[in-house]
Amino acid sequence: MPNCDWGRPCDCRECTEMSRTEICQICSKNKTFKTQSEYIIDRKGRHYYDFINYCSKCWEKKVEKDKKEEQRRIEEQNRKNAEIKNLEKILKTLKYDPIPIKNAINMYRDQIKISNSDRWIKDYIIRSFTDILLIEKVKNRWHCCKNRLNLIDFKLY
Ligand SMILES: [Zn+2]
Ligand SMILES: [Zn+2]
Repeated sequence: MPNCDWGRPCDCRECTEMSRTEICQICSKNKTFKTQSEYIIDRKGRHYYDFINYCSKCWEKKVEKDKKEEQRRIEEQNRKNAEIKNLEKILKTLKYDPIPIKNAINMYRDQIKISNSDRWIKDYIIRSFTDILLIEKVKNRWHCCKNRLNLIDFKLY
């Protein structure tokens, strides 16, 4: 790669040209029509561009697939939004019954399977779920509503 962006991942014309191959990398048959970059963050946290060469046929297929994927994503989001709306309507009918925020942290960890610290989860919950879980400080300690917590689905958010 040329060092055109001070060694940072780059997909300028020059970098793209350098990664161009004669033959499509998907079907290994037809002539390359388009060299497409894809921003990658691998498991070791390295950032770079991957370049894939497509013939016109394979490119068409990829565009079609991306479109479908995007459509699926939008539908999924709409479904989640509807569920959230429904859930929050139910939560509003519940009686307020305060319990320590630690319960919400445990519930979050259970549902999301996350390895972040309790402190991180606590801050995140206080920041993002104040209205939903009726989070407040009682006698200098954070509490949330037990009845609401029982019904919450953190995965929706
Ligand atoms: Zn470049
Ligand atoms: Zn091809």
